[in-house]
Parts: sequence; C-alpha cells; structure tokens
Amino acid sequence: MKAIIITSLFVVYLQFLSAQSKSTAPNIFVITLDGFRWQEIFNGADPGLMANTIYVNDTAMIRQLYGGETAVTRRQKLLPFFWNVLSKEGQLYGNRAYGNQADVKNFYRISYAGYNEIFTGFADWRFIPNTPRFNKNANLPAYLNNLDEFKGKVAVFSSWNIFPYILNEPANRILVNSGYEPLSSNEPTIKKINQVQDSISSKSACRYDMLTFLMAKQYTEQHHPKMLVLSFGETDEFAHSGRYDMYLQRANDADRMIASLWYSIQSDPFYKNNTVFIITTDHGRGSKTNTWPAHHLFVKGSGEIWMALMGPGVEARGEIKEPGQIYQNQFAQTIVGLLGEVFAPNHSTGKPIVLQNAATEKKQDTFVSVRVATK
Ligand SMILES: [Zn+2]
Repeated sequence: MKAIIITSLFVVYLQFLSAQSKSTAPNIFVITLDGFRWQEIFNGADPGLMANTIYVNDTAMIRQLYGGETAVTRRQKLLPFFWNVLSKEGQLYGNRAYGNQADVKNFYRISYAGYNEIFTGFADWRFIPNTPRFNKNANLPAYLNNLDEFKGKVAVFSSWNIFPYILNEPANRILVNSGYEPLSSNEPTIKKINQVQDSISSKSACRYDMLTFLMAKQYTEQHHPKMLVLSFGETDEFAHSGRYDMYLQRANDADRMIASLWYSIQSDPFYKNNTVFIITTDHGRGSKTNTWPAHHLFVKGSGEIWMALMGPGVEARGEIKEPGQIYQNQFAQTIVGLLGEVFAPNHSTGKPIVLQNAATEKKQDTFVSVRVATK
C-alpha cells in the first residue's frame, strides 16, 4: 500500500515537472527605438550637438536636462532605465570605444531592411524600399505564433505604419497594430485610445510613440502575450528633421516607457522573473555633426547599432567592455535560443550570439553545433 502511494505520488510529481517545463519557455519582449545611435546610448547627449543652434532650439535648457561633464553622467541623465537598471541586471553591446561592435549585415541601412534583418535573421540582398510591400521572408513572430505554446500569444505594436508589410500580417495572421490603425476591442480603455488616435488631425506614417506604448501596455495587461514587439519610431522622425533636442527627448520618453513596462510586468505573476527584454535599433546614423540626421548606404555610421537585453538566461554583466563583433542578423536566433525553440526558415540566418555568460558559454557552443546539424 505504502509503495503504491509513493509510486502514485512520484507519477504526480513527474507530471508536475513536465507541466512546469512546458510553461517555462520565457516570455520575450522585443523593443526597438528607430534609428537611435549607439553614440547616445553609451555617451549620452553629444556636447557639440547640444550646443549647436542649427539642431537645438534652446541649447541652455537641453544642456540643463541632458548635459554633464562625463559620458557616464550624460547617459545616466538621458537613459536612466538603461543605466540604472538594465546595466545592473543585463548586458549592453555596441560600445565601440571598447572595440565592442554591433552592426547590421544588410547593405542598405534603412528601416525596412533593418526590421527584416531583426525579425527574419536574414540580411536580404534584395532591395525593398521603405514602402508598403509585403515581405516574403519567414519571420520569427509568425513562426512562434504557429507553435502551440505561443499560438495567439504574439502581438506587435509599432509606431511606423509599414510593420504590417514587413511582418506580412495577412499571410501570417499575427496581430500587428501599426501607425494610427485602431485596435478592435470591447475593452473601454482601448476604445478610448482608439478615439484619441482618431481625433489626431495630421496623421503621419509614424504614430505618436506614447499612443503605441499605451496600446501595447493595455493589451499586454489584458491578454498576456508571450511575445510582444514594441517598436518606437519618433527618434528617427525627429533626427531626419534635424531636431537633436526632440530626438533626445523622444529617446528619454522611450526609456521611461520601457521602465514603466518593466515595472508593470515584474509586478505581474504571469511575467515576473520569466520575461526577457531585448532592446535594439534598426540602423545607425551619420557620426558627424553634419551627417547625424541621415542614414543610408553612403552615410558612414549608418550600419552601426547596439543591443541590450536582460531577463532569465542573461547573466548580469552590464556594459560589455571587451572587443567583439555581433550582427543584427543574429538577433532572431539569439531570441530563439533564449526561448529554447528552433527556428529553421528556408533562408540563412545569423548564429545566436554567445551571450557573455561565464557558466553558459560552453553550453551555448554545443547548442549552436546541434542546430547547424539539424538544418
Ligand atoms: Zn530613417
């Protein structure tokens, strides 16, 4: 009798373990700041640009807000979440002062090409301009949405209205809420956000980031997506119009919104300690005083990016100060690796990044070779 009880307890325990392991794939939030430079991530606001009246309306006030003697002071002022939280709990790649380089692999250094590279793991050599054209490349959000564990649990919110094309929303049947598109819902807050959006008279291709954020946050609280993409767009918009003051303020706003999202998910049992944030950008920009507003094939610096991440599976190493090289086409497989899934589309992909984890480096090497063998 005793043996039967012990055996059945053991069976229950095994079932419990397998149920646990089924639901332990972490949640993943991919957050992007369009065209935000690594220079501002690691050095804060640029003193020369802050003092330049071509790009800044009130140079004294901008200096008051984001100025400082050292890069460390300035970056902490501009991006408090990155430098007070993320740098303590996660990892930041791309500070070229240490020879730590992050670059896009694609040739074009524009947004469509960059988001395609992030979400498909493939630096497409074919040129697709930043226009509404459906992307044929298999992407990670769509792939995850087809797995049992992620089905109906993938949601994309972007300020830029080209995202439904880049991720091919109709073919992939994933939720992509972009630009000023309303979100169909009976929930009162979402309905209110729809109304506010509707009331905006001059709608550009890029929604206000705050609206994108509110929509994403509200949806997340109610529906608990396991993969959320949140893509901010205003940094790029203001950079193109040469407004360094607004570019800085939008980045500062984005930092605060990311902080608020992190706080709210860490206070939610569904997400708490089981959610990875990966934050990056689609492309760099010019590195000089007169080239920073632009980015494309011929502007030096346009391919230079950065990437930050934190959450389970990411050791707290902070800013990576060792020489190294990562590429944008590695992000998709890095995410897949953190989720413990396999993404094998019919195009090539960059290998997962070997995260700077002393204990897991060996394990990851094994993982890479296993995956290569399955392709
Ligand atoms: Zn741009």
